[in-house]
Amino acid sequence: MAAPKLVVGIVIDQMRWDFLYRYANRFGNGGFKRMMNEGFNCQNTMIPYTPTVTAAGHACVYTGSVPNINGIAGNNWYDSKLHRTVYCTEDNAVQSVGTTTTDGQMSPRNMLSTTISDELRLATAYQGKVIGIALKDRGAILPAGHSANAAYWYDNDNASFITSTWYMPALPQWVNNFNNRKLPDSLMAMGWKTLYPILTYTQSTADEKLYEGKYKGNSSTSFPYSFSGNSNTEKWDMVRSTPHGNTLTTEFAKAAVIHEGLGKDAITDLLAVSYSSPDYIGHQFGPNSIENEDDYLRLDNELAAFFLFLDKQVGKGQYTVFLTADHGVAHVPGYSIENKLPGGSYSSSLFTKEINKGLKQTFGLDSIVAATMNYQVHFNQPLMREKQLDTEKITGWVIDYLYKQDVISQAFELKELMEQPMNKTLQVRISNGYYPGRSGDVQYIPKPGWVDGGKTGTSHGLWNPYDSHIPLLFMGWGVKQGSTHRETYMTDIAATIAAILKIQMPNGCVGNVIEELL
Ligand code: ZN
Ligand code: ZN
Repeated sequence: MAAPKLVVGIVIDQMRWDFLYRYANRFGNGGFKRMMNEGFNCQNTMIPYTPTVTAAGHACVYTGSVPNINGIAGNNWYDSKLHRTVYCTEDNAVQSVGTTTTDGQMSPRNMLSTTISDELRLATAYQGKVIGIALKDRGAILPAGHSANAAYWYDNDNASFITSTWYMPALPQWVNNFNNRKLPDSLMAMGWKTLYPILTYTQSTADEKLYEGKYKGNSSTSFPYSFSGNSNTEKWDMVRSTPHGNTLTTEFAKAAVIHEGLGKDAITDLLAVSYSSPDYIGHQFGPNSIENEDDYLRLDNELAAFFLFLDKQVGKGQYTVFLTADHGVAHVPGYSIENKLPGGSYSSSLFTKEINKGLKQTFGLDSIVAATMNYQVHFNQPLMREKQLDTEKITGWVIDYLYKQDVISQAFELKELMEQPMNKTLQVRISNGYYPGRSGDVQYIPKPGWVDGGKTGTSHGLWNPYDSHIPLLFMGWGVKQGSTHRETYMTDIAATIAAILKIQMPNGCVGNVIEELL
């Protein structure tokens, strides 16, 4: 056989690299550990750009490229031509399929380069099938690429997987059948209990912490959780933020493999699965919570069963699977403070308000700053041109303001990035994340451990190792057993899959083949 029958790409949303080891003593042999033991482990894989957020991560894994080239400069960005905030996969030129809501008006249009999945479609004269699946739209759409047969994401208003007219005019019958099973109802009826006795969760803090976010209608953050007091609409949304969201995703992925016949013939297919729930859970409870630990123990079981399913359905050794993450996560600020670690929380939306207030006092005009997003301040360019404002003076004022904030270590005008005296790694990562018209005018760099957010939960988005050091495992057809500590990058994934499949790299790829695993 000259190629695998199926490539399965798995992205765990928000999986920090160390979770592979931190929870390892209770992982079984069939999930994460099967990939670590049978496959190839790139232990030192970094994200080579900022901001380290979901859309940019999924785009990078599959394009082998960075925001500077693929244009996915954030989950949202302020578009300087449209003068408004744009969502990464929004597309008003397409219609929802499978829902009456606008949740389906999505496509990969804003992603400017091809994915490895596009290249597979091109290389097989569109005979190799490509399907992307995730609860989050961006987690399904960006990996599947421009020429995918389908991308499916979850519409919580209807507890259904949906798509858009970018891909098809109507849902296939198997998707309707799956949706009719109303799996979210039966899953949420189970509540959430820990897999093992709660006292055995030694990798985590106490269960009840004030800095954990509560579920809607729940008065505490303690196990066991019951969702019986929530309405159906609430439960259909909340399923995302429980391990049941992972089960829902796996069951849908299995249905896709069966009903689309993925991996059934000699022409390679590609299935991109992204597990969104770890990110929702991580944001709400943080990486040191029992909720996070239990989610990963359950996800490990989920993966083990999925691999056994693929062994049976496609054949052991006949498929190639890789597993990685779109980004990691910072400690909950409250946890850092409690443990005397550097860090805390701040609010970037407060920056916008305060800067605009200050600028009005000095320059006499409202709303000079249009947005503060992705650690960048965007000026209201049309207003500045119309009123012929002194850009240099305003920039100086904003930088002075930013330096007065506790959280910020450095602030500068983005066009002067390469002249800044600063750490080279950081400079390169910011430049890789810069896309003209989608990135801002002034960049600020928070000190390590500082998180943009509120009183509970945590986030990610920076260059620091907790956000940028991700797991990367390969297993199956064409993959040697082994591991490396050599520094590898998120951009190397698509280049390596291209080498395994002997197809062209994506057209914006800047990664290198990880030779050790071939
Ligand atoms: Zn994410
Ligand atoms: Zn997130």
